[in-house]
Amino acid sequence: QHPLAHASCESVAAAVSLGHTTHAPTGYIDYDSYRAAGGYVLARACHDGGRDADTLIATMEESSLRGLGGAGFPTGRKWRIVRNEPGPRLMAINIDEGEPGTFKDRYYLERDPHRFLEGALVAAWVAGMDTIYIYLRDEYHGCRAMLQTELARLRADPPFSPMPQLILRRGAGAYICGEESAMIESIEGKRGMPRLRPPYVAQAGLFGLPTLQHNFETLHWVRAIFEHGAGWFSSQGRHGRKGLRSFSVSGRVREPGVKLAPAGITVQELIDEYCGGMAPGHQFYGYLPGGASGGILPAALNAIPLDFDTLQPYGCFIGSAAVVVLSDQDSAVAAARNTLRFFKDESCGQCTPCRVGTAKALALIEQAAWDTPLLAELSQVMRDASICGLGQAAPNPVDCVVKYFSHELGKP
Ligand code: SF4
Repeated sequence: QHPLAHASCESVAAAVSLGHTTHAPTGYIDYDSYRAAGGYVLARACHDGGRDADTLIATMEESSLRGLGGAGFPTGRKWRIVRNEPGPRLMAINIDEGEPGTFKDRYYLERDPHRFLEGALVAAWVAGMDTIYIYLRDEYHGCRAMLQTELARLRADPPFSPMPQLILRRGAGAYICGEESAMIESIEGKRGMPRLRPPYVAQAGLFGLPTLQHNFETLHWVRAIFEHGAGWFSSQGRHGRKGLRSFSVSGRVREPGVKLAPAGITVQELIDEYCGGMAPGHQFYGYLPGGASGGILPAALNAIPLDFDTLQPYGCFIGSAAVVVLSDQDSAVAAARNTLRFFKDESCGQCTPCRVGTAKALALIEQAAWDTPLLAELSQVMRDASICGLGQAAPNPVDCVVKYFSHELGKP
Protein backbone atom coordinates (compact mmCIF):
# COMPACT_ATOMS: atom_id res chain seq x y z
CA GLN A 1 0.00 0.00 0.00
CA HIS A 2 1.22 3.50 -0.82
CA PRO A 3 2.57 5.21 2.30
CA LEU A 4 0.34 8.19 1.64
CA ALA A 5 -2.86 6.12 1.45
CA HIS A 6 -4.04 7.16 4.92
CA ALA A 7 -2.52 10.60 4.99
CA SER A 8 -4.70 13.68 5.22
CA CYS A 9 -5.36 15.74 2.12
CA GLU A 10 -3.13 18.45 3.51
CA SER A 11 -0.14 16.20 4.03
CA VAL A 12 -0.62 14.64 0.59
CA ALA A 13 -0.66 18.11 -0.91
CA ALA A 14 2.52 18.90 1.02
CA ALA A 15 4.17 15.71 -0.16
CA VAL A 16 3.41 16.27 -3.81
CA SER A 17 4.53 19.87 -3.56
CA LEU A 18 8.08 18.98 -2.58
CA GLY A 19 10.36 21.91 -3.22
CA HIS A 20 7.57 24.44 -3.25
CA THR A 21 6.46 26.83 -0.53
CA THR A 22 3.25 25.16 0.54
CA HIS A 23 2.78 27.10 3.76
CA ALA A 24 2.68 30.85 4.18
CA PRO A 25 5.96 32.17 5.56
CA THR A 26 6.00 33.43 9.13
CA GLY A 27 8.26 35.83 10.96
CA TYR A 28 8.60 38.14 7.97
CA ILE A 29 8.57 41.96 8.09
CA ASP A 30 4.87 42.74 7.84
CA TYR A 31 3.23 46.03 6.89
CA ASP A 32 3.28 47.57 10.37
CA SER A 33 6.90 46.58 11.02
CA TYR A 34 7.99 47.81 7.61
CA ARG A 35 6.36 51.21 8.10
CA ALA A 36 7.67 51.49 11.65
CA ALA A 37 11.20 51.11 10.26
CA GLY A 38 10.81 53.95 7.76
CA GLY A 39 9.10 51.98 5.03
CA TYR A 40 7.09 53.81 2.36
CA VAL A 41 8.59 57.19 3.38
CA LEU A 42 10.43 57.31 0.05
CA ALA A 43 7.35 56.34 -1.96
CA ARG A 44 5.26 58.95 -0.16
CA ALA A 45 7.92 61.62 -0.67
CA CYS A 46 7.79 60.91 -4.41
CA HIS A 47 4.03 61.21 -4.48
CA ASP A 48 4.00 64.39 -2.35
CA GLY A 49 6.44 66.16 -4.65
CA GLY A 50 9.48 65.82 -2.41
CA ARG A 51 11.48 64.00 -5.06
CA ASP A 52 12.40 64.81 -8.62
CA ALA A 53 11.95 62.04 -11.20
CA ASP A 54 14.92 63.09 -13.34
CA THR A 55 17.19 63.08 -10.28
CA LEU A 56 15.96 59.62 -9.29
CA ILE A 57 16.63 58.30 -12.79
CA ALA A 58 20.11 59.82 -12.78
CA THR A 59 20.82 58.23 -9.37
CA MET A 60 19.59 54.87 -10.59
CA GLU A 61 21.80 55.10 -13.69
CA GLU A 62 24.77 56.01 -11.54
CA SER A 63 24.12 53.07 -9.19
CA SER A 64 24.72 50.57 -12.02
CA LEU A 65 21.71 48.47 -10.93
CA ARG A 66 20.80 46.10 -13.75
CA GLY A 67 17.81 43.86 -14.35
CA LEU A 68 18.38 40.89 -12.05
CA GLY A 69 16.00 38.49 -13.76
CA GLY A 70 18.75 37.53 -16.16
CA ALA A 71 18.85 40.05 -18.99
CA GLY A 72 20.86 42.65 -17.08
CA PHE A 73 19.36 45.70 -18.79
CA PRO A 74 20.35 48.91 -16.92
CA THR A 75 17.45 49.83 -14.63
CA GLY A 76 17.76 53.61 -14.83
CA ARG A 77 17.89 53.51 -18.61
CA LYS A 78 14.76 51.35 -18.69
CA TRP A 79 12.92 53.88 -16.52
CA ARG A 80 13.97 56.68 -18.88
CA ILE A 81 12.92 54.76 -22.00
CA VAL A 82 9.44 53.87 -20.70
CA ARG A 83 8.88 57.33 -19.24
CA ASN A 84 9.49 58.83 -22.67
CA GLU A 85 6.84 56.62 -24.27
CA PRO A 86 3.36 58.12 -24.63
CA GLY A 87 0.87 57.24 -21.86
CA PRO A 88 -1.03 55.42 -20.61
CA ARG A 89 1.66 52.99 -19.48
CA LEU A 90 1.60 49.86 -17.34
CA MET A 91 4.00 48.03 -15.08
CA ALA A 92 4.53 44.27 -14.77
CA ILE A 93 6.61 42.57 -12.08
CA ASN A 94 8.04 39.15 -12.82
CA ILE A 95 8.13 36.76 -9.85
CA ASP A 96 7.85 33.63 -11.97
CA GLU A 97 11.35 32.50 -10.91
CA GLY A 98 11.41 29.30 -12.97
CA GLU A 99 15.09 29.02 -13.88
CA PRO A 100 16.34 25.75 -12.37
CA GLY A 101 18.55 26.48 -9.37
CA THR A 102 17.15 29.98 -8.80
CA PHE A 103 15.44 30.76 -5.50
CA LYS A 104 16.64 34.25 -4.59
CA ASP A 105 13.33 36.04 -5.29
CA ARG A 106 11.46 33.66 -3.01
CA TYR A 107 14.14 34.16 -0.35
CA TYR A 108 13.62 37.94 -0.22
CA LEU A 109 9.87 37.79 -0.77
CA GLU A 110 9.39 35.46 2.20
CA ARG A 111 11.33 37.81 4.47
CA ASP A 112 10.64 41.39 3.40
CA PRO A 113 7.66 41.60 1.01
CA HIS A 114 7.04 45.34 1.28
CA ARG A 115 10.51 46.28 0.10
CA PHE A 116 9.84 45.31 -3.51
CA LEU A 117 6.35 46.81 -3.31
CA GLU A 118 7.83 50.16 -2.31
CA GLY A 119 10.39 49.81 -5.11
CA ALA A 120 7.50 49.19 -7.50
CA LEU A 121 5.60 52.26 -6.27
CA VAL A 122 8.70 54.43 -6.71
CA ALA A 123 9.39 53.06 -10.21
CA ALA A 124 5.74 53.52 -11.16
CA TRP A 125 5.86 57.12 -10.02
CA VAL A 126 9.11 57.83 -11.89
CA ALA A 127 7.95 56.22 -15.14
CA GLY A 128 4.35 57.46 -14.82
CA MET A 129 1.90 54.61 -14.40
CA ASP A 130 -1.02 53.91 -12.12
CA THR A 131 -1.49 50.17 -12.54
CA ILE A 132 0.99 47.48 -11.49
CA TYR A 133 0.62 43.79 -12.31
CA ILE A 134 2.47 41.29 -10.13
CA TYR A 135 2.97 37.89 -11.79
CA LEU A 136 3.71 35.26 -9.15
CA ARG A 137 4.90 31.72 -9.74
CA ASP A 138 1.95 29.47 -8.92
CA GLU A 139 4.10 26.96 -7.07
CA TYR A 140 4.77 29.65 -4.43
CA HIS A 141 1.46 28.93 -2.69
CA GLY A 142 2.62 30.22 0.67
CA CYS A 143 4.04 33.42 -0.79
CA ARG A 144 0.75 34.06 -2.55
CA ALA A 145 -1.26 33.80 0.68
CA MET A 146 1.20 36.08 2.45
CA LEU A 147 1.25 38.59 -0.40
CA GLN A 148 -2.55 38.71 -0.54
CA THR A 149 -2.61 39.51 3.19
CA GLU A 150 0.06 42.20 2.91
CA LEU A 151 -1.47 43.78 -0.19
CA ALA A 152 -4.80 44.01 1.66
CA ARG A 153 -3.05 45.79 4.55
CA LEU A 154 -1.32 48.17 2.19
CA ARG A 155 -4.56 49.01 0.36
CA ALA A 156 -6.45 49.47 3.65
CA ASP A 157 -3.90 51.96 4.99
CA PRO A 158 -2.14 53.44 1.96
CA PRO A 159 0.94 55.54 2.66
CA PHE A 160 -0.36 58.06 0.11
CA SER A 161 -3.42 58.50 -2.01
CA PRO A 162 -4.30 57.74 -4.72
CA MET A 163 -1.96 54.76 -4.76
CA PRO A 164 -1.43 52.81 -8.01
CA GLN A 165 -3.64 49.77 -8.38
CA LEU A 166 -1.74 46.57 -7.49
CA ILE A 167 -3.05 43.45 -9.23
CA LEU A 168 -1.74 40.01 -8.25
CA ARG A 169 -1.78 37.40 -11.03
CA ARG A 170 -0.96 33.69 -10.72
CA GLY A 171 1.31 31.91 -13.15
CA ALA A 172 0.43 28.36 -14.15
CA GLY A 173 3.71 26.49 -13.99
CA ALA A 174 5.20 27.18 -17.42
CA TYR A 175 8.92 27.98 -17.44
CA ILE A 176 8.53 30.06 -20.58
CA CYS A 177 6.24 32.51 -18.76
CA GLY A 178 9.34 33.87 -17.06
CA GLU A 179 10.28 35.32 -20.47
CA GLU A 180 8.95 38.86 -20.37
CA SER A 181 6.72 38.82 -23.44
CA ALA A 182 5.34 35.34 -22.66
CA MET A 183 4.55 36.59 -19.16
CA ILE A 184 2.66 39.49 -20.68
CA GLU A 185 0.67 37.13 -22.90
CA SER A 186 -0.13 35.07 -19.81
CA ILE A 187 -1.26 38.12 -17.83
CA GLU A 188 -3.53 39.00 -20.76
CA GLY A 189 -5.14 35.59 -20.35
CA LYS A 190 -3.55 33.99 -23.40
CA ARG A 191 -1.28 30.98 -23.79
CA GLY A 192 2.19 32.02 -22.67
CA MET A 193 4.23 32.27 -25.86
CA PRO A 194 7.01 34.79 -26.48
CA ARG A 195 6.37 37.59 -28.93
CA LEU A 196 8.53 38.54 -31.86
CA ARG A 197 10.39 41.79 -31.29
CA PRO A 198 10.28 44.63 -32.23
CA PRO A 199 8.08 46.14 -30.97
CA TYR A 200 9.70 45.86 -27.56
CA VAL A 201 7.72 45.54 -24.35
CA ALA A 202 8.76 49.08 -23.39
CA GLN A 203 6.95 50.33 -26.49
CA ALA A 204 4.01 47.93 -26.84
CA GLY A 205 3.75 45.46 -23.97
CA LEU A 206 0.83 44.60 -21.74
CA PHE A 207 -2.48 45.20 -23.59
CA GLY A 208 -0.48 46.94 -26.30
CA LEU A 209 0.66 49.74 -23.95
CA PRO A 210 4.22 50.81 -23.09
CA THR A 211 5.21 48.57 -20.18
CA LEU A 212 7.88 48.78 -17.52
CA GLN A 213 8.76 45.16 -16.81
CA HIS A 214 10.95 44.32 -13.83
CA ASN A 215 12.20 41.25 -12.07
CA PHE A 216 11.29 41.11 -8.37
CA GLU A 217 14.84 41.49 -7.09
CA THR A 218 15.58 44.57 -9.17
CA LEU A 219 12.79 46.37 -7.33
CA HIS A 220 13.95 44.92 -4.00
CA TRP A 221 17.08 47.12 -4.20
CA VAL A 222 15.40 50.42 -5.14
CA ARG A 223 14.78 51.71 -1.61
CA ALA A 224 18.28 50.90 -0.38
CA ILE A 225 19.89 52.62 -3.36
CA PHE A 226 17.97 55.85 -2.76
CA GLU A 227 18.56 55.71 0.98
CA HIS A 228 22.28 54.90 0.88
CA GLY A 229 23.17 56.52 -2.44
CA ALA A 230 24.22 55.29 -5.85
CA GLY A 231 27.83 54.94 -4.70
CA TRP A 232 26.89 52.51 -1.96
CA PHE A 233 25.66 50.00 -4.54
CA SER A 234 28.09 50.66 -7.37
CA SER A 235 31.17 50.45 -5.13
CA GLN A 236 30.44 46.88 -4.02
CA GLY A 237 31.80 44.90 -6.97
CA ARG A 238 34.96 42.87 -7.28
CA HIS A 239 37.43 42.32 -10.14
CA GLY A 240 36.33 45.51 -11.88
CA ARG A 241 32.60 44.79 -11.73
CA LYS A 242 29.96 46.94 -9.99
CA GLY A 243 27.15 46.19 -7.55
CA LEU A 244 25.80 43.25 -5.60
CA ARG A 245 24.41 39.95 -6.84
CA SER A 246 22.24 37.44 -5.01
CA PHE A 247 23.68 34.09 -6.00
CA SER A 248 21.41 31.06 -5.53
CA VAL A 249 24.10 28.47 -4.80
CA SER A 250 23.21 24.79 -4.85
CA GLY A 251 24.99 21.50 -5.44
CA ARG A 252 28.06 20.05 -3.74
CA VAL A 253 28.96 22.89 -1.39
CA ARG A 254 28.99 22.70 2.38
CA GLU A 255 26.49 25.56 2.86
CA PRO A 256 24.19 26.14 -0.12
CA GLY A 257 21.71 29.03 -0.16
CA VAL A 258 21.24 32.61 -1.28
CA LYS A 259 24.57 34.44 -1.02
CA LEU A 260 24.62 38.20 -1.36
CA ALA A 261 28.07 38.83 -2.80
CA PRO A 262 29.91 41.41 -4.90
CA ALA A 263 29.24 41.31 -8.62
CA GLY A 264 32.31 39.85 -10.32
CA ILE A 265 33.20 37.41 -7.57
CA THR A 266 34.67 34.18 -8.93
CA VAL A 267 33.11 30.79 -8.31
CA GLN A 268 36.11 29.75 -6.25
CA GLU A 269 35.74 32.79 -4.02
CA LEU A 270 32.02 32.15 -3.75
CA ILE A 271 32.58 28.56 -2.65
CA ASP A 272 35.41 29.37 -0.24
CA GLU A 273 34.18 32.62 1.28
CA TYR A 274 30.40 32.24 1.20
CA CYS A 275 29.64 28.50 1.14
CA GLY A 276 32.11 27.07 3.65
CA GLY A 277 33.98 25.21 0.91
CA MET A 278 32.96 22.02 -0.86
CA ALA A 279 30.77 19.43 0.85
CA PRO A 280 32.81 16.80 2.72
CA GLY A 281 34.18 14.14 0.38
CA HIS A 282 33.63 16.16 -2.79
CA GLN A 283 36.23 17.69 -5.10
CA PHE A 284 35.25 20.70 -7.21
CA TYR A 285 34.73 19.48 -10.79
CA GLY A 286 32.62 22.05 -12.64
CA TYR A 287 29.77 24.51 -12.34
CA LEU A 288 26.68 25.84 -14.03
CA PRO A 289 27.08 29.63 -13.66
CA GLY A 290 23.54 30.54 -14.73
CA GLY A 291 21.08 27.75 -14.01
CA ALA A 292 20.07 25.41 -16.82
CA SER A 293 20.55 28.00 -19.56
CA GLY A 294 23.94 29.44 -18.75
CA GLY A 295 26.17 26.55 -19.80
CA ILE A 296 28.64 24.39 -17.84
CA LEU A 297 32.23 25.30 -17.01
CA PRO A 298 35.08 23.17 -15.67
CA ALA A 299 36.74 23.77 -12.30
CA ALA A 300 39.89 24.85 -14.16
CA LEU A 301 37.98 28.01 -15.20
CA ASN A 302 37.38 29.00 -11.59
CA ALA A 303 38.76 32.53 -11.79
CA ILE A 304 36.28 34.14 -14.19
CA PRO A 305 34.45 37.11 -12.64
CA LEU A 306 30.79 36.13 -12.45
CA ASP A 307 28.67 38.90 -13.91
CA PHE A 308 26.71 40.00 -16.93
CA ASP A 309 28.95 40.19 -20.03
CA THR A 310 31.92 38.33 -18.51
CA LEU A 311 31.01 34.76 -19.48
CA GLN A 312 30.11 35.20 -23.15
CA PRO A 313 33.64 34.45 -24.37
CA TYR A 314 33.28 31.04 -22.72
CA GLY A 315 29.89 30.30 -24.30
CA CYS A 316 28.09 30.88 -20.98
CA PHE A 317 26.14 33.54 -19.11
CA ILE A 318 25.20 34.33 -15.54
CA GLY A 319 21.46 34.91 -16.11
CA SER A 320 19.72 35.05 -12.74
CA ALA A 321 22.93 33.99 -10.92
CA ALA A 322 21.96 30.41 -10.09
CA VAL A 323 25.29 28.68 -9.49
CA VAL A 324 25.13 24.88 -9.40
CA VAL A 325 28.38 23.32 -8.18
CA LEU A 326 29.36 19.86 -9.49
CA SER A 327 31.87 17.53 -7.88
CA ASP A 328 34.00 14.58 -8.94
CA GLN A 329 30.94 12.45 -8.22
CA ASP A 330 28.94 14.21 -10.97
CA SER A 331 29.08 14.15 -14.73
CA ALA A 332 28.76 17.08 -17.11
CA VAL A 333 27.19 14.76 -19.70
CA ALA A 334 24.47 13.83 -17.22
CA ALA A 335 23.93 17.51 -16.39
CA ALA A 336 23.62 18.37 -20.10
CA ARG A 337 21.12 15.55 -20.67
CA ASN A 338 19.10 16.74 -17.70
CA THR A 339 18.97 20.34 -18.92
CA LEU A 340 18.04 19.29 -22.47
CA ARG A 341 15.19 17.16 -21.14
CA PHE A 342 13.99 20.22 -19.27
CA PHE A 343 14.17 22.49 -22.34
CA LYS A 344 12.43 19.93 -24.53
CA ASP A 345 9.57 19.74 -22.02
CA GLU A 346 9.36 23.49 -21.53
CA SER A 347 9.68 24.63 -25.15
CA CYS A 348 6.44 26.43 -25.96
CA GLY A 349 6.50 24.81 -29.40
CA GLN A 350 5.93 28.03 -31.31
CA CYS A 351 9.03 27.86 -33.50
CA THR A 352 10.58 24.87 -35.25
CA PRO A 353 14.28 25.36 -34.38
CA CYS A 354 13.44 25.09 -30.68
CA ARG A 355 10.51 22.66 -30.73
CA VAL A 356 12.26 20.18 -33.00
CA GLY A 357 15.82 21.19 -32.13
CA THR A 358 15.55 20.44 -28.40
CA ALA A 359 14.07 16.99 -29.11
CA LYS A 360 16.67 16.25 -31.76
CA ALA A 361 19.57 17.44 -29.60
CA LEU A 362 18.33 15.35 -26.69
CA ALA A 363 18.10 12.24 -28.86
CA LEU A 364 21.66 12.86 -30.09
CA ILE A 365 23.17 13.35 -26.63
CA GLU A 366 21.41 10.34 -25.20
CA GLN A 367 23.57 8.23 -27.51
CA ALA A 368 26.70 6.73 -25.99
CA ALA A 369 28.84 8.41 -28.67
CA TRP A 370 27.97 11.97 -29.63
CA ASP A 371 27.80 13.08 -33.28
CA THR A 372 29.59 16.33 -32.51
CA PRO A 373 29.63 17.82 -36.05
CA LEU A 374 25.85 17.34 -36.32
CA LEU A 375 25.32 18.72 -32.81
CA ALA A 376 27.40 21.79 -33.68
CA GLU A 377 25.28 22.43 -36.77
CA LEU A 378 22.07 21.96 -34.82
CA SER A 379 23.24 24.31 -32.04
CA GLN A 380 24.03 27.00 -34.60
CA VAL A 381 20.57 26.73 -36.18
CA MET A 382 18.88 26.90 -32.77
CA ARG A 383 20.91 29.92 -31.75
CA ASP A 384 20.34 31.75 -35.02
CA ALA A 385 16.71 30.96 -35.68
CA SER A 386 14.86 30.48 -32.38
CA ILE A 387 12.45 33.23 -31.45
CA CYS A 388 13.41 33.58 -27.79
CA GLY A 389 16.13 32.90 -25.28
CA LEU A 390 14.95 29.38 -24.46
CA GLY A 391 15.76 27.97 -27.89
CA GLN A 392 18.82 30.19 -28.26
CA ALA A 393 20.32 29.07 -24.93
CA ALA A 394 19.21 25.43 -24.92
CA PRO A 395 22.36 24.23 -26.77
CA ASN A 396 24.72 25.94 -24.29
CA PRO A 397 25.22 22.95 -21.95
CA VAL A 398 25.76 20.62 -24.91
CA ASP A 399 28.31 22.89 -26.54
CA CYS A 400 30.09 23.28 -23.19
CA VAL A 401 30.41 19.52 -22.76
CA VAL A 402 31.99 19.24 -26.22
CA LYS A 403 34.31 22.15 -25.47
CA TYR A 404 35.31 21.53 -21.84
CA PHE A 405 34.39 17.95 -20.90
CA SER A 406 35.31 15.97 -24.02
CA HIS A 407 37.01 13.39 -21.80
CA GLU A 408 33.52 12.27 -20.73
CA LEU A 409 32.26 11.67 -24.27
CA GLY A 410 32.04 8.14 -25.44
CA LYS A 411 31.13 6.93 -21.97
CA PRO A 412 27.70 5.28 -21.79
FE1 SF4 B 1 8.82 28.88 -27.89
FE2 SF4 B 1 11.25 27.76 -27.96
FE3 SF4 B 1 10.50 29.33 -29.92
FE4 SF4 B 1 10.98 30.37 -27.48
S1 SF4 B 1 12.47 29.46 -28.84
S2 SF4 B 1 9.29 30.87 -28.85
S3 SF4 B 1 10.25 28.67 -26.20
S4 SF4 B 1 9.54 27.37 -29.36
